[in-house]
Amino acid sequence: MPVIEVRNLHKRYGAKVAVEDVSFAVEEGEIFGVLGPNGAGKTTTVECVAGLRAPDRGTVSVLGLDPRRDRIELTRRLGVQLQASRLPDKMKVREAVELYASFHDRPADPGRLIEELGLAGQRDTRFGRLSGGQQQRVSIALALVGDPKIAILDELTTGLDPQARRDTWQLIENVRDRGVTIVLVTHFMEEAERLCDRLAVIDGGRVIAVDTPAGLVARVAPEQRVRFRPSAPLDDRLLQDLPEVRTVTKTGGQVVVTGTDGLVQAVTSVLARNHIIAADLRVEQSSLDDAFVALTGRPLDPPTL
Ligand code: ATP
Repeated sequence: MPVIEVRNLHKRYGAKVAVEDVSFAVEEGEIFGVLGPNGAGKTTTVECVAGLRAPDRGTVSVLGLDPRRDRIELTRRLGVQLQASRLPDKMKVREAVELYASFHDRPADPGRLIEELGLAGQRDTRFGRLSGGQQQRVSIALALVGDPKIAILDELTTGLDPQARRDTWQLIENVRDRGVTIVLVTHFMEEAERLCDRLAVIDGGRVIAVDTPAGLVARVAPEQRVRFRPSAPLDDRLLQDLPEVRTVTKTGGQVVVTGTDGLVQAVTSVLARNHIIAADLRVEQSSLDDAFVALTGRPLDPPTL
């Protein structure tokens, strides 16, 4: 049985339609991604899931509860880390986690949580003096301090450097391994591909697709791409005549060939027959980026770093 069920959710702000007929279900124990560009309606959707906004239409059920009606009961089981939530700069890490723990009947042990999140050394550091990555760890701690069954994490790694981002991903996996179901809102493709078991792609307030990252990639033409620098001038027709080849493009000294299964062998044997060496040969598979373009007709906005 799903732990979250969203059916035909609609939400507008005045004339602006933010969420239009969004439906999806999240299974227990998974990392479920909500992926889409800025302004797609991701935050509004998860705010409705958390009971922080009232939908105009549609139903939301979280662990069998109605997030608006059963708000108090839900806060015991659902941890939320919302975008840009910030603590007072002067508050120490330990004070913040203990304060949030005091809001719950059966909180996690603050000391242990601080340690698990790699913040033992910053226990007595003020929030304003932490690095971006450490501040994000504190916000994860606050989302987990009530020992929730489900955690909603919104744009967790925006603004982090690549190492801090990778560390945060590891942390999220550890949290999932402890049995917490995670809803991860992101506009960062690599994050979705690396972390999510399944994801909903949202664009313009609508769900475009719900699938595993691999399933989404498999929906687009299972394309291969080969790049190389030929050691001698190359007649395009040699490649274009191959049944495996779809397109051939040349940029600078580089040739990019796209096509279907068997492309690499077909291209390399034609080159060998013509005594051309393929320098810097690279083979690329379709990625979630390609799937996003195929589904929405444009690339996902680059993340704001
Ligand atoms: P982002 O990643 O930029 O936060 P998002 O996918 O989370 O984007 P939402 O924050 O849900 O998107 O916003 C969806 C749309 O609704 C956007 O066009 C946004 O400008 C608009 N919107 C969001 N909150 C409000 C509000 N309180 N009042 C008016 N419009 C809003």
